[in-house]
Amino acid sequence: MENKVKLNGLTFVPYLTAEQISAEVKRVADEIRRDLKDTCKPIFLCVLKGAFVFAADLIREVGREDSKVSFVRYASYEGTSSTGTVKQLVGLTEDLGGRDVVIIEDIVDTGLTALRMIEDLKAQNPASVRFATLLYKPESSKTGFVPDYVAFSIPSKFILGYGLDLDGQGRGLKDIYVIEDEA
Ligand code: 5GP
Repeated sequence: MENKVKLNGLTFVPYLTAEQISAEVKRVADEIRRDLKDTCKPIFLCVLKGAFVFAADLIREVGREDSKVSFVRYASYEGTSSTGTVKQLVGLTEDLGGRDVVIIEDIVDTGLTALRMIEDLKAQNPASVRFATLLYKPESSKTGFVPDYVAFSIPSKFILGYGLDLDGQGRGLKDIYVIEDEA
């Protein structure tokens, strides 16, 4: 595993190795495959940008040839002064009606994005909506939201690598890093 990573004046230390990540991705894929056993035509929704690495590995491990993959993201724009910043789900081109949807996220922190996304998607009348995340910070949850599938539950510290970024950088790191504790 590479040693410390320095970006934007911050230092990150190794936290989870590529081997550890691969083992947990396989476990989550097994759980998803079991739960989707009796469903037809599942669709995976990869939430950009951070989930692209996890999604690529997870979807191939699940190995359902009848599944589709689509990519969505939340775009922020300034609403009226009363509403502040508004987030809107963009990029969904597939009809989700009657489909078994598996959302793939990089990290659930407060849980606000996850709940908002599930609500937005349910408006399209899918048969089911499941939520898979690489990382889950239970201590940060403001909403009580618990994902259906979690590769790693982690403390509330800033994480980098395997798709997760700092100001757009670090997504290509094979391992996962955590911000170094301040002395
Ligand atoms: P929340 O669950 O609070 O609505 O937001 C989750 C989003 O916050 C993630 O999709 C990600 O963009 C960002 N985020 C939360 N924690 C971290 C972290 O530790 N590292 C990185 N790179 N992004 C994070």
